[in-house]
Amino acid sequence: RSWTESSIPVQILEVIEKIGYKEPSPIQRQAIPIGLQNRDIIGIAETGSGKTAAFVIPMLAFISRLPPFTDENRHLGPYALIMAPTRELAQQIESETRKFASPLGFKCVSIVGGRSVEEQQFNLREGAEIIIATPGRLKDVIERHVLVLSQCRYVVMDEADRMVNLGFEADLLFILDRLPSELMEGEDNGEQMDVDGETMVRKGRSRVTTLFSATMPPPVERLAKKYLKRPAVITI
Ligand code: AMP
Repeated sequence: RSWTESSIPVQILEVIEKIGYKEPSPIQRQAIPIGLQNRDIIGIAETGSGKTAAFVIPMLAFISRLPPFTDENRHLGPYALIMAPTRELAQQIESETRKFASPLGFKCVSIVGGRSVEEQQFNLREGAEIIIATPGRLKDVIERHVLVLSQCRYVVMDEADRMVNLGFEADLLFILDRLPSELMEGEDNGEQMDVDGETMVRKGRSRVTTLFSATMPPPVERLAKKYLKRPAVITI
């Protein structure tokens, strides 16, 4: 029933302890061990269940294994992208994500409507490992060449049913089609793992996609079918 039962990297366990979350919530207990195996997940859960940390912890473990941002790669876009239906939810996710990401040295930037594109462009000038966005504004900044997604390896869609109900299905398809495709077989994706005490480069899996939704209407089913690979389904 405790955090240490799942294989959360020690530097992230230290952050959880500092934040003061004593024990994982039910969705965290279910989703984090699966997420840490880099499996795609469909989570059927309501807000307020602690689902932000449930997807943020595996996401941070994943991007911690990628090469650190440098002047060579920061302009290639984020390593992780979280999409949500509204500005309010995106900002809530941003503040929860920042609690974990900042102590680990990762930058979060939100791309939402209601603020100028210029301001968001300014926030992106140093690059951010993590972007939290609403689909409409994100599509806009991609079309204006303010942001590219050419090294985005971790995608979370939160409240997918609400995004679809708000008319964002086409924007989601536009965005998801601009993510780098799965790497060629055997191509080095920079991810490292320990095998019998030796550090090896993991081949193959280059992107993890996670989708949360309270309901699964046909457009959400279609999204999941097109963009998720053999997802684990978690119901709270
Ligand atoms: P969420 O469902 O992600 O919006 O989270 C709802 C609230 O629960 C947020 O205010 C979190 O800060 C808090 N929270 C999430 N996980 C835990 C936990 N394991 N222990 C205590 N509080 C938590």
